[in-house]
Amino acid sequence: MILDKFRLDGKIAIVTGSNTGLGQGFCVALAEAGARVLGVGRRDSEETLAMIGKDKFAYMIADLGDVGCVDKIIKTALDTYGGIDILVNNAGIIRREDSLNFTEKDWDEVMNVNLKTLFFLSQAAARVMVEQNRGGKIINVASMLSYQGGIRVPSYTSSKSAVKGLTMTLANEWAKYGINVNAIAPGYMATNNTEALRNDPDRSKAILDRIPAGRWGTPEDIMGAGVFLASSASDYVNGFTLAVDGGWLAR
Ligand code: NAP
Repeated sequence: MILDKFRLDGKIAIVTGSNTGLGQGFCVALAEAGARVLGVGRRDSEETLAMIGKDKFAYMIADLGDVGCVDKIIKTALDTYGGIDILVNNAGIIRREDSLNFTEKDWDEVMNVNLKTLFFLSQAAARVMVEQNRGGKIINVASMLSYQGGIRVPSYTSSKSAVKGLTMTLANEWAKYGINVNAIAPGYMATNNTEALRNDPDRSKAILDRIPAGRWGTPEDIMGAGVFLASSASDYVNGFTLAVDGGWLAR
């Protein structure tokens, strides 16, 4: 039955940035669909744990700004649940500054979290998936700025455009192992990431006026796409970046 294909019973997932925002939404969605989830964050994910319960959720602390955390994340997933079927590379940061004044620090910090660790964590998870020989699902969180330039966000746009390209590369290489690599490009969502924009009345109005759905998105809005791309309902979807944006890109 088609709805059974969306079920994630028995699956083991890693979600980065699990303490808040969209990452918290992914954790809740995957757990509600049946998966056991290891959350990863630089702070605790107690709120997410309270939402899901300890049968389906555990979390660990790791700084994804340092690629050295990758081995520890994989080991914790294997020690806690005994495998890896789903990886959601959700954690991401943004720095806003005129490109004329943009610093190397703001460049490196964004690229390290949004792109470098995303790649090496995907590589490490995929190695486990290949070894397990039961396929897998990797979901990268991209952005509207995988498609557009944005303003005053040079490292963020570069990282998110690269995430879209990398998603295609990895999908091409790993489809033969039954590993699907896809991305979700959220539109303008009401999370910490966009707090500065929402607090700026002019920018906030300009953004809202341009969203056909007429509202900011929420973590709940990405849950359906997350379960779809994590489940066997998407077994023949490879390398695609799915916008969940209230129509922003359609304008
Ligand atoms: P958010 O609330 O700021 O969440 C970002 C998550 O990443 C947080 O859990 C954050 O932890 C974690 N994180 C950041 N740096 C980390 C590090 N060095 N180590 C470990 N964890 C780290 O924003 P969000 O909107 O939910 O963002 C989730 C993803 O969606 C990001 O990749 C973002 O770029 C993308 N996105 C968001 C929007 C939007 O409109 N909100 C649009 C397009 C794409 P802390 O809580 O400790 O900071």
